[in-house]
Amino acid sequence: MEIVQYPHPTLRYKSKPITRVDRGLREIVKNMFSLMYEAKGIGLAANQVDLPLQLFVVNTKSDPVEGEERVFINPVITKPKGSHEAEEGCLSIIGVNAMVVRPEQIHISAYDLDGNEISETVDGLLAKAIQHETDHLEGVLFIDRISESSRKQVDIELEDFEIDFKSRRETGSIPDDQTIMKRLSEIEAKYCS
Ligand code: ZN
Repeated sequence: MEIVQYPHPTLRYKSKPITRVDRGLREIVKNMFSLMYEAKGIGLAANQVDLPLQLFVVNTKSDPVEGEERVFINPVITKPKGSHEAEEGCLSIIGVNAMVVRPEQIHISAYDLDGNEISETVDGLLAKAIQHETDHLEGVLFIDRISESSRKQVDIELEDFEIDFKSRRETGSIPDDQTIMKRLSEIEAKYCS
């Protein structure tokens, strides 16, 4: 498992609700936390590890000891309140940062790995992380939510990602779209039906 980089097609895929949790999925979650800590991130969505599942992990301290490890399955955001602008980055667009405006407070409904219902009103960094990660599950990236002027700047940086992606495709280290989609539907058949 690895964190895929922009413009990997799975980052634009709309993830499907999870209907079963097994040992394999618990292993996936464990690996997602490891990759997130390694990359010094505070959140990681399934799309970012090339999986089509409505699942993300968060630890706002990015530290397994200090912070709290949270797993969100099939998240639904409601009741957005207020507005707050802050700089965001993404483990799938490493090194690119830009200001994003998001609701300051939200309500999140989801399930944890044990099937317990999560129903919380959150704000601050956790609210920001949850919104960023829930976007991922819809195939939305933070660069879709930035101002036109910062997008112009970011587009220049994204060119390098596109060149790198193209060359990784040419060398075969990233499969073609058809192969990726076939794999995603196999995983969906296992966890979403
Ligand atoms: Zn991200």
